[in-house]
Amino acid sequence: MPCDPAALRKAVVLGVGDNGSGADAALALNAAGMTVTVTDSRPAGRLPAVHVARLAAAGIPVVSGANPGWLVDARTLVVPAPSVPVTHPYCAAAGAVLNDVALLLLAAAGPSVGITGSNGKTTVTAWLHHVLKQSPPGAVKAGNIGPAASTLLSTARKSPAVLVLEVSSYQAEYMALARTAPDTMLFTNFAPNHLDHYRSPSDYRAAKRGIIRHVPPAGTLILNADDEVAGWGKGFPGDVLHFGRFSAGNSPGTYFDEENLVHRGADGSERKLGSVADAPLPGRHNLYNFCAVIAAAAAAGKLPPEDAFRLGLSFAGVEHRMEFVAEAGGVAFYDDSSSTTPDSTLAALETFTPAPVLIVGGRNKGMPLQILAERLGRAPAVVLIGETAAELRHLIGGTAAVSAAGDMPDAVAKALAAARSAGAKQVILSPGFASFDMFGNYRERGEAFKNAARAAAGL
Ligand code: ADP
Repeated sequence: MPCDPAALRKAVVLGVGDNGSGADAALALNAAGMTVTVTDSRPAGRLPAVHVARLAAAGIPVVSGANPGWLVDARTLVVPAPSVPVTHPYCAAAGAVLNDVALLLLAAAGPSVGITGSNGKTTVTAWLHHVLKQSPPGAVKAGNIGPAASTLLSTARKSPAVLVLEVSSYQAEYMALARTAPDTMLFTNFAPNHLDHYRSPSDYRAAKRGIIRHVPPAGTLILNADDEVAGWGKGFPGDVLHFGRFSAGNSPGTYFDEENLVHRGADGSERKLGSVADAPLPGRHNLYNFCAVIAAAAAAGKLPPEDAFRLGLSFAGVEHRMEFVAEAGGVAFYDDSSSTTPDSTLAALETFTPAPVLIVGGRNKGMPLQILAERLGRAPAVVLIGETAAELRHLIGGTAAVSAAGDMPDAVAKALAAARSAGAKQVILSPGFASFDMFGNYRERGEAFKNAARAAAGL
């Protein structure tokens, strides 16, 4: 980036944002004395009127219907909306590019922790926020999880609270471009994903990993010990903590074994924190998440791990992530609709013994299906929905009882019947793919499942 953003007087905010995130960023930059323009490629009539009105009241012009090239030159700070890829022509033309998360990090007075990775970002962000907000100096969450980072721009300057940020791979790329990162950066795991945007897994890896270079040297990296991210701390000058399955070794961090969660300090001493049986969310993947939260609370909030464990016990989980819905005659329904990667479906499959009946399928973003199909053979029955149904059915072959359903009530009815005949105790909607083939988004998919599950349970 050729310019120091602080030297620039002119800003262009790219996208009003349906939730007003662009408008919030524009208002904050305007209040800081910059000359601000907002541009949005949608025609004026399709922009959210309430946010356009806020901009008009502050005298900030909105250029709609296109993003004209003349708006941006080498003396312009560009602030892109979270959904704009770094390949947008403005990013090359601008003097500096700061996304809303980077702007917030530059403004924030308190410590910050960023959570990124392929699966578990939202769960870990919400869980960490739940823990940290219960003790001084408190915590606020923002980023991909919502609210947009720009909504906090006006208050962060004066707040000592820990900023807990969910960082998508787009946002990680922008932060690398802005050469800024949170003081503590946590990687849940890495699985190739979003291959429709990135050319290859190595591009995707580079987008996620590039942010590490910008974590302050006195900062902390928190890495999954049982994933390829485990080695990403090599050469990092600050602290590196790990989380995952307990194994003898000397990396400080938080671990679980069959019975307990254990914290290993920087001096190698180990302390038992509490029992695995008390963990509040089901599944081994949530033990990883709990350990990650405890390590991050120690790093970013200076919270003793025993306190983080105790405060984390009351976390109720996040909607559409292994969320218990209802029970029908001994069969429990779980909504895991936010599962949009095969890895998260496999995490759901491994959550219960004996294995649950799964409802799987959706729109494939370029993931290979072979491994998922092989592992699904472990389930007593699989009900397939969506565009991947035919291919998955073919690949699963005769290893599990497979059926296909045309809509969600049909899928729930077939899954319940299959669970009863196989003696399974759970039915989980854990699709493993995007929802857009049948629904507007994963929330609508989850609601359709919950409605059908409640109806099946007679609620
Ligand atoms: P993200 O924000 O990264 O998409 P979420 O917390 O929203 O992650 O969870 C998305 C899906 O991944 C859900 O199906 C959830 O049950 C599953 N999941 C959560 N944590 C993990 C983990 N550590 N490893 C694998 N899957 C996970």
